[in-house]
Amino acid sequence: MENDISTEISEVANLIAGADSILFITGAGISADSGLPTYRGLGGLYNGSVTEEGFTIEEALSSNVMSKRPDITWKYLWQIGSACLKAKPNSAHKIISLIQEIKPDSWVLTQNIDGLHRAAGNKNLIEIHGNAFDLYCTQCGYKPDIDALFPVSGQKPELPPKCAKCTGIVRPNVVLFGEMLPEECLAQYYKVLSSNPELIISIGTSGMFQYITGPVYDAIHQGRKTVEINPAESNFSGMVNYYLPLTAARAMEKIWEKLKLHFV
Ligand SMILES: [Zn+2]
Repeated sequence: MENDISTEISEVANLIAGADSILFITGAGISADSGLPTYRGLGGLYNGSVTEEGFTIEEALSSNVMSKRPDITWKYLWQIGSACLKAKPNSAHKIISLIQEIKPDSWVLTQNIDGLHRAAGNKNLIEIHGNAFDLYCTQCGYKPDIDALFPVSGQKPELPPKCAKCTGIVRPNVVLFGEMLPEECLAQYYKVLSSNPELIISIGTSGMFQYITGPVYDAIHQGRKTVEINPAESNFSGMVNYYLPLTAARAMEKIWEKLKLHFV
Protein backbone atom coordinates (compact mmCIF):
# COMPACT_ATOMS: atom_id res chain seq x y z
CA MET A 1 0.00 0.00 0.00
CA GLU A 2 2.83 2.33 0.87
CA ASN A 3 4.15 2.08 -2.68
CA ASP A 4 0.92 3.64 -3.81
CA ILE A 5 1.63 6.82 -1.90
CA SER A 6 5.31 7.22 -2.74
CA THR A 7 4.29 9.75 -5.41
CA GLU A 8 2.35 11.71 -2.82
CA ILE A 9 5.32 11.59 -0.44
CA SER A 10 7.58 13.06 -3.16
CA GLU A 11 5.03 15.75 -3.95
CA VAL A 12 4.69 16.71 -0.30
CA ALA A 13 8.51 16.94 -0.08
CA ASN A 14 8.40 19.22 -3.14
CA LEU A 15 5.75 21.39 -1.49
CA ILE A 16 7.88 21.78 1.63
CA ALA A 17 10.97 22.53 -0.45
CA GLY A 18 9.09 25.24 -2.34
CA ALA A 19 7.26 26.87 0.58
CA ASP A 20 8.57 29.98 2.31
CA SER A 21 6.26 29.64 5.30
CA ILE A 22 4.89 26.47 6.86
CA LEU A 23 2.51 25.89 9.73
CA PHE A 24 2.59 22.48 11.41
CA ILE A 25 -0.51 21.72 13.46
CA THR A 26 -0.03 18.71 15.72
CA GLY A 27 -2.21 16.66 18.02
CA ALA A 28 -1.91 13.51 20.08
CA GLY A 29 -1.15 11.39 17.01
CA ILE A 30 2.37 12.81 16.72
CA SER A 31 3.15 11.54 20.23
CA ALA A 32 1.79 8.04 19.60
CA ASP A 33 5.19 7.00 18.20
CA SER A 34 6.70 8.12 21.52
CA GLY A 35 4.49 5.63 23.32
CA LEU A 36 1.86 8.08 24.54
CA PRO A 37 -1.80 7.20 24.02
CA THR A 38 -3.68 9.16 21.38
CA TYR A 39 -5.94 10.63 23.98
CA ARG A 40 -8.29 13.47 23.24
CA GLY A 41 -6.96 16.31 25.31
CA LEU A 42 -6.25 15.72 28.95
CA GLY A 43 -9.15 13.39 29.60
CA GLY A 44 -8.71 10.80 26.93
CA LEU A 45 -6.32 8.64 28.94
CA TYR A 46 -9.37 7.54 30.83
CA ASN A 47 -11.92 7.50 28.03
CA GLY A 48 -15.22 8.10 29.72
CA SER A 49 -14.53 6.17 32.91
CA VAL A 50 -15.49 7.55 36.31
CA THR A 51 -12.76 8.13 38.89
CA GLU A 52 -12.84 6.40 42.26
CA GLU A 53 -13.92 9.72 43.74
CA GLY A 54 -17.08 9.53 41.62
CA PHE A 55 -16.14 12.30 39.17
CA THR A 56 -15.93 11.97 35.43
CA ILE A 57 -12.34 12.54 34.35
CA GLU A 58 -13.40 15.86 32.81
CA GLU A 59 -14.69 16.96 36.22
CA ALA A 60 -11.59 15.70 38.05
CA LEU A 61 -9.43 17.67 35.58
CA SER A 62 -11.53 20.84 35.73
CA SER A 63 -10.75 24.27 37.12
CA ASN A 64 -13.72 23.83 39.45
CA VAL A 65 -12.37 20.70 41.17
CA MET A 66 -8.82 22.12 41.08
CA SER A 67 -10.00 25.06 43.17
CA LYS A 68 -11.95 22.94 45.68
CA ARG A 69 -10.14 19.59 45.74
CA PRO A 70 -6.68 20.10 44.21
CA ASP A 71 -5.60 16.74 45.64
CA ILE A 72 -8.03 14.99 43.27
CA THR A 73 -7.04 17.00 40.19
CA TRP A 74 -3.37 16.46 41.01
CA LYS A 75 -3.82 12.72 41.40
CA TYR A 76 -4.75 12.50 37.71
CA LEU A 77 -2.35 15.22 36.58
CA TRP A 78 0.39 13.15 38.18
CA GLN A 79 -0.60 10.05 36.21
CA ILE A 80 -0.58 12.01 32.95
CA GLY A 81 2.63 13.87 33.80
CA SER A 82 4.57 10.76 34.77
CA ALA A 83 3.57 9.08 31.48
CA CYS A 84 4.82 12.18 29.62
CA LEU A 85 8.07 12.30 31.64
CA LYS A 86 9.12 8.88 30.38
CA ALA A 87 8.39 9.72 26.74
CA LYS A 88 11.07 10.89 24.31
CA PRO A 89 10.59 12.85 21.09
CA ASN A 90 10.30 10.64 18.00
CA SER A 91 11.55 11.21 14.48
CA ALA A 92 8.48 13.27 13.54
CA HIS A 93 9.31 15.86 16.22
CA LYS A 94 12.99 15.77 15.24
CA ILE A 95 12.34 16.13 11.51
CA ILE A 96 10.24 19.24 12.20
CA SER A 97 13.42 20.71 13.75
CA LEU A 98 15.43 19.75 10.65
CA ILE A 99 12.82 21.36 8.40
CA GLN A 100 12.90 24.51 10.54
CA GLU A 101 16.64 24.78 9.92
CA ILE A 102 16.03 25.09 6.18
CA LYS A 103 12.65 26.87 6.51
CA PRO A 104 13.04 29.31 9.39
CA ASP A 105 9.60 30.87 8.81
CA SER A 106 7.81 27.76 10.00
CA TRP A 107 5.64 27.47 13.06
CA VAL A 108 4.32 24.65 15.23
CA LEU A 109 0.91 24.85 16.86
CA THR A 110 0.41 21.86 19.17
CA GLN A 111 -2.49 20.66 21.27
CA ASN A 112 -0.14 18.40 23.21
CA ILE A 113 0.97 19.15 26.75
CA ASP A 114 3.70 16.50 26.75
CA GLY A 115 6.59 18.87 26.00
CA LEU A 116 7.99 16.65 23.21
CA HIS A 117 8.18 19.43 20.60
CA ARG A 118 10.21 21.51 23.03
CA ALA A 119 12.40 18.53 23.92
CA ALA A 120 13.10 18.02 20.20
CA GLY A 121 14.23 21.64 19.91
CA ASN A 122 11.32 22.85 17.76
CA LYS A 123 11.27 26.64 17.42
CA ASN A 124 8.34 29.04 16.91
CA LEU A 125 6.29 26.75 19.10
CA ILE A 126 2.78 27.54 20.31
CA GLU A 127 1.61 25.14 23.02
CA ILE A 128 -2.07 26.04 22.91
CA HIS A 129 -3.06 23.72 25.79
CA GLY A 130 0.04 24.54 27.85
CA ASN A 131 2.89 22.33 29.00
CA ALA A 132 2.64 19.80 31.81
CA PHE A 133 6.15 20.65 33.00
CA ASP A 134 5.65 24.39 33.44
CA LEU A 135 4.48 24.91 36.99
CA TYR A 136 3.24 27.96 38.83
CA CYS A 137 1.89 28.89 42.24
CA THR A 138 -1.82 29.71 42.11
CA GLN A 139 -1.35 32.23 44.91
CA CYS A 140 1.84 34.22 44.27
CA GLY A 141 2.67 33.22 40.68
CA TYR A 142 6.13 31.87 41.57
CA LYS A 143 7.33 29.34 38.98
CA PRO A 144 9.11 26.47 40.71
CA ASP A 145 11.50 24.32 38.76
CA ILE A 146 10.02 20.87 38.27
CA ASP A 147 13.16 19.14 39.56
CA ALA A 148 13.17 21.28 42.69
CA LEU A 149 9.52 20.53 43.38
CA PHE A 150 9.80 16.81 42.66
CA PRO A 151 13.41 16.03 43.61
CA VAL A 152 13.09 12.25 43.36
CA SER A 153 12.18 11.62 39.76
CA GLY A 154 9.22 9.30 39.31
CA GLN A 155 8.47 8.98 43.02
CA LYS A 156 5.04 10.27 43.94
CA PRO A 157 5.35 13.20 46.34
CA GLU A 158 2.67 14.61 48.59
CA LEU A 159 -0.02 16.11 46.37
CA PRO A 160 -1.01 18.82 45.77
CA PRO A 161 2.50 20.30 45.85
CA LYS A 162 2.94 23.53 47.81
CA CYS A 163 4.82 26.67 46.88
CA ALA A 164 8.18 27.09 48.62
CA LYS A 165 7.64 30.86 48.83
CA CYS A 166 4.08 31.16 50.13
CA THR A 167 2.71 27.60 50.66
CA GLY A 168 0.04 28.21 47.98
CA ILE A 169 -1.04 25.34 45.73
CA VAL A 170 1.22 24.77 42.74
CA ARG A 171 -0.29 23.60 39.45
CA PRO A 172 0.92 22.93 35.92
CA ASN A 173 0.34 25.55 33.26
CA VAL A 174 -2.12 23.44 31.27
CA VAL A 175 -5.64 24.23 30.13
CA LEU A 176 -7.99 22.35 32.44
CA PHE A 177 -11.59 21.61 31.51
CA GLY A 178 -13.65 24.76 31.91
CA GLU A 179 -10.66 27.03 31.27
CA MET A 180 -10.02 29.33 28.33
CA LEU A 181 -7.15 28.86 25.91
CA PRO A 182 -4.25 31.12 26.95
CA GLU A 183 -4.67 34.57 25.41
CA GLU A 184 -1.06 35.16 24.49
CA CYS A 185 -0.87 31.80 22.68
CA LEU A 186 -4.08 32.54 20.79
CA ALA A 187 -2.82 36.00 19.84
CA GLN A 188 0.42 34.49 18.57
CA TYR A 189 -1.49 31.83 16.65
CA TYR A 190 -3.80 34.38 14.98
CA LYS A 191 -0.77 36.45 14.04
CA VAL A 192 0.74 33.42 12.31
CA LEU A 193 -2.58 32.65 10.58
CA SER A 194 -2.96 36.24 9.38
CA SER A 195 0.36 35.90 7.59
CA ASN A 196 -1.31 33.16 5.46
CA PRO A 197 1.28 30.38 5.72
CA GLU A 198 1.84 28.89 2.28
CA LEU A 199 1.61 25.33 3.51
CA ILE A 200 -0.29 23.80 6.43
CA ILE A 201 0.68 20.31 7.58
CA SER A 202 -1.65 18.73 10.11
CA ILE A 203 -0.14 15.76 11.98
CA GLY A 204 -2.24 13.49 14.16
CA THR A 205 -4.99 15.93 15.05
CA SER A 206 -8.52 14.74 15.59
CA GLY A 207 -9.93 17.69 13.66
CA MET A 208 -12.50 18.33 16.36
CA PHE A 209 -11.53 21.80 17.47
CA GLN A 210 -12.71 24.80 15.50
CA TYR A 211 -9.44 26.68 16.01
CA ILE A 212 -7.75 23.87 14.08
CA THR A 213 -10.33 22.95 11.47
CA GLY A 214 -11.12 26.62 10.71
CA PRO A 215 -7.63 27.57 9.52
CA VAL A 216 -7.33 24.34 7.52
CA TYR A 217 -10.67 24.99 5.78
CA ASP A 218 -9.65 28.63 5.18
CA ALA A 219 -6.39 27.50 3.57
CA ILE A 220 -8.25 24.99 1.39
CA HIS A 221 -10.73 27.64 0.23
CA GLN A 222 -7.99 30.17 -0.45
CA GLY A 223 -6.06 27.68 -2.55
CA ARG A 224 -3.11 27.43 -0.19
CA LYS A 225 -1.63 23.96 0.15
CA THR A 226 -2.68 21.53 2.86
CA VAL A 227 -1.36 18.15 3.97
CA GLU A 228 -2.71 15.79 6.56
CA ILE A 229 -0.75 12.95 8.17
CA ASN A 230 -3.01 10.69 10.18
CA PRO A 231 -3.51 6.90 10.17
CA ALA A 232 -7.21 7.50 10.84
CA GLU A 233 -9.30 9.84 8.69
CA SER A 234 -10.45 13.12 10.20
CA ASN A 235 -13.09 15.67 9.15
CA PHE A 236 -10.83 17.21 6.55
CA SER A 237 -8.95 14.18 5.17
CA GLY A 238 -11.07 14.25 2.04
CA MET A 239 -10.43 17.94 1.40
CA VAL A 240 -6.70 18.45 1.87
CA ASN A 241 -4.34 18.41 -1.11
CA TYR A 242 -2.50 15.39 0.27
CA TYR A 243 -3.78 12.94 2.85
CA LEU A 244 -1.10 10.50 4.02
CA PRO A 245 -2.64 7.62 6.02
CA LEU A 246 0.56 6.85 7.93
CA THR A 247 1.80 7.27 11.49
CA ALA A 248 3.60 10.54 12.13
CA ALA A 249 7.12 9.13 12.44
CA ARG A 250 6.81 6.90 9.37
CA ALA A 251 5.39 9.68 7.19
CA MET A 252 7.94 12.27 8.30
CA GLU A 253 10.85 9.87 7.82
CA LYS A 254 9.70 9.15 4.26
CA ILE A 255 9.16 12.84 3.52
CA TRP A 256 12.59 13.71 4.92
CA GLU A 257 14.28 11.05 2.72
CA LYS A 258 12.95 12.90 -0.31
CA LEU A 259 13.20 16.41 1.05
CA LYS A 260 16.87 16.25 2.02
CA LEU A 261 17.75 15.54 -1.61
CA HIS A 262 16.66 19.11 -2.37
CA PHE A 263 19.23 20.51 0.01
CA VAL A 264 22.44 18.51 -0.56
ZN1 LIG B 1 3.46 30.98 46.03
